Amino acid sequence: MTTENCIFCKIISGEIPAKLVAESEHAIAFNDISPQQPVHVLIVPRVHKENVTELALANPVEMQDVMRLGAQVAQMLTEGSHRFTFNTGVEAGQSVFHVHGHITSRTPKVAV
Ligand code: AMP
Ligand code: ZN
Repeated sequence: MTTENCIFCKIISGEIPAKLVAESEHAIAFNDISPQQPVHVLIVPRVHKENVTELALANPVEMQDVMRLGAQVAQMLTEGSHRFTFNTGVEAGQSVFHVHGHITSRTPKVAV
């Protein structure tokens, strides 16, 4: 899939709306359109790479920024317990081929 017909590239450019949660120099975080848990946020690098393997090997600075933004989102929105997962390949459940990490949690941060 090329950058032109990539749904996450369109969200990054603003062509398609998304519920933005946080952003950084190299990545954005937005709510998953079909949440599987009370917290379900996608962490997406601005650069188009097909999966996390490609990103980690070719773009270590962007990879680090994705991990940092995911950590910030987890601290901001959860009580601490969460998963940060990257599906890689169709057989592993990847359906959008612009790398993204899922922050999922059953324990949203309780407002004080
Ligand atoms: P994966 O199956 O790991 O590739 O995850 C793709 C995720 O993207 C799924 O959880 C979808 O619900 C989510 N998704 C697809 N389209 C959108 C969209 N337009 N805005 C937000 N999340 C989306
Ligand atoms: Zn893309």
